[in-house]
Amino acid sequence: MSGNAARRKAIEGIASLTEETSSFDYKNEKVENVFGINVFSLEKMEKRLPKNIFKSLKNVIENGGKMDATVADVVASVMKDWALAHGATHYAHVFYPLTGLTAEKHDSFYEPSGSSALASFSGKTLIQGEPDASSFPNGGIRATFEARGYTVWDVTSPAFIMEGVNGSTLCIPTAFVSWTGEALDKKTPLLRSMHALNRQAQRVLKLFGHSETGFVAATAGPEQEYFLVDARLYHLRPDLYTCGRTLFGAKPARGQEFEDQYFGTIPERVLAYMMEVEHECFKVGIPIKTRHNEVAPGQYEVAPIFETANVAHDHQQLTMTILKKVARKHGLVCLLAEKPFAGVNGSGKHVNWSLGSGKVGNLLDPGETPHENAQFLTFATAVVRAVSIHQGLLRAFVASPGNDHRLGANEAPPAILSVYLGSQLGDVFEQLQKSGSASSSKKAGTMSIGVDTLPLLPKDAGDRNRTSPFAFTGNKFEFRAVGSNFSIAGPLFLLNTIVADSLEFIADRLEKETKGDPKKLNAALQKLLKEILNDHGSIIFNGNGYSDEWKAEAAKRGLKNLRTTPEALVEVTAKSTIETFKRQGVLTKRELESREELTFESYINTILTESKLVLEIGRTQLYPAVNRYVVELAQARNSLGELSVKDGVLEKVVALQTAFVAALDGLEAIRDAAKGDPHAKSTYACEKIIPAMLKAREAADALEEIVADDLWPLPSYQELLFLR
Ligand code: ADP
Ligand code: MG
Repeated sequence: MSGNAARRKAIEGIASLTEETSSFDYKNEKVENVFGINVFSLEKMEKRLPKNIFKSLKNVIENGGKMDATVADVVASVMKDWALAHGATHYAHVFYPLTGLTAEKHDSFYEPSGSSALASFSGKTLIQGEPDASSFPNGGIRATFEARGYTVWDVTSPAFIMEGVNGSTLCIPTAFVSWTGEALDKKTPLLRSMHALNRQAQRVLKLFGHSETGFVAATAGPEQEYFLVDARLYHLRPDLYTCGRTLFGAKPARGQEFEDQYFGTIPERVLAYMMEVEHECFKVGIPIKTRHNEVAPGQYEVAPIFETANVAHDHQQLTMTILKKVARKHGLVCLLAEKPFAGVNGSGKHVNWSLGSGKVGNLLDPGETPHENAQFLTFATAVVRAVSIHQGLLRAFVASPGNDHRLGANEAPPAILSVYLGSQLGDVFEQLQKSGSASSSKKAGTMSIGVDTLPLLPKDAGDRNRTSPFAFTGNKFEFRAVGSNFSIAGPLFLLNTIVADSLEFIADRLEKETKGDPKKLNAALQKLLKEILNDHGSIIFNGNGYSDEWKAEAAKRGLKNLRTTPEALVEVTAKSTIETFKRQGVLTKRELESREELTFESYINTILTESKLVLEIGRTQLYPAVNRYVVELAQARNSLGELSVKDGVLEKVVALQTAFVAALDGLEAIRDAAKGDPHAKSTYACEKIIPAMLKAREAADALEEIVADDLWPLPSYQELLFLR
């Protein structure tokens, strides 16, 4: 099929779609009967395990430590029986390599035994796996040491069954480390950071008089944005199926200017998809709560109820897998790229973050009493300090080619990090900064006056500001600069680590000044909070983050504005980063260096792939279409002779064609010339290759708007965004 014939066929297919009812009876099946059926939960283990075995397993889960070999054997055996009863034939250690993706190696439960086969699964195989992992990126760590890496069961995240079309697999969440104990994955630092945060939070809580706190864990609730496009159109776009984003495409006649998409009625086909996604998520115990349309046409969001950060991370990875898998069944493709369409809203992943425990509750929830408020303000101040000190690092941890296109564009948080507190809390912080105490709260009725008291704060989230990259939203902070395609592990272990470090600073100071006398706490606190806010208050910004005035103001305040990945990434190995991560025991210098190097490499590779594709599509698909049109116009002019209208279209097309060819040649000439270390190479990619790609795109998009539609091979933005 040539030119637009393939497109026409795809469009006809979409136009004649009828909604199929699902084979699953959503109306009569109760969610409570589905939720977690494929999870080998703590309750299920308790039912199946001997009392003493369960007790020691629970102890490892809650307090860490090594699992006894006999305990592991018994756990493995009941887990196997449960998995076999649920139709599993294989088990897989699931791990999260530095690519940000999910990796799994499947092994059969069955081994030959005489003339038959027997299912077996030992404690050792449950706890530890040895994937041949030499081809996973490690940033040089394993090149210089022992080449082997191994996976270790993360007992704090339950095993579950993943159903496939033709069979099921028992999935065991694991951490992936080198033989020398260095982290080769995203989960290991996340687990380490949870412990660091717990350690320091406990010290602060002790000063506030808590003796029994329980493990203070970070909590996370990620809101995932995504696009859906019809699979038939998707498969006609090599840029989409190779890079996940469009490299060409003229602006559609209708964009998002009507503002009628956000929270609009969900199309039936999309709703059917969402329901199946939720159903699959429920089965593996992911507590999906929210679904709605997003701002751009064809854009949607899904969000769960928050969980412990470590489990939320595993569930988030699984949600992305399910989003993609279920889309296929519905003839759709789920795009998770940060900016699949130029000029159209991008997709983020808002990471809601807090910390707390069953005993002390949510520590970022303003309390009912002045005493609780003092504690809340201490933790909130720790977060403000952490973001201020590590503002560049927060930007670096969300750096990718895709997210660079999104951050700082006029619909996403800017590349400048700042903290939004809202007018109420902002006012309290201003008072704190001035006097070390705050005696009034803006809202009438919540006043609480006294020398050593702090105001009562309303519990509702209050005002919203969608333009801030890091916002307080009532009882949690929301990190909005994270890209839709990201693993949340990085942002989470970063937040855990830098806040733990701030809490350590605060605990050190308060312990020193109170010398164990609780009566001295208030005075010490007032002095310390005032000092911290004087040093770090400039990170607080409650205005419009999209405005140009803010860019100027932020520069005046000395805040960092790291617009691109190459600019931001060096923060990963900055002195303050290395010291902080070392102090908290989360990553060593070498581990940080390897991560920085890998991100540089993946940045360069992405841009090299994209630019190769621009050349390929440009020369083998678009150029021939343009040329056919030129021939058609020229022939028409010749055959019409004097009758031909002098409309200048042929000249216009030829001029654009010339510019297009020159741009493609220009791109080819510079594409391979990057030199030096990964930083230098990625700067080259950023400053030279990306603009050259854009130049080719500019000419092609102008051509798309003038060349006869029946010749144009690529589905248009209109078709991708509006047909479903
Ligand atoms: P929004 O208005 O931003 O959509 P929501 O109230 O819907 O806000 O919450 C968004 C996400 O924040 C949800 O996933 C929710 O579970 C999560 N969340 C709520 N409380 C916490 C908390 N204490 N810690 C982490 N995440 C939380
Ligand atoms: Mg939100």
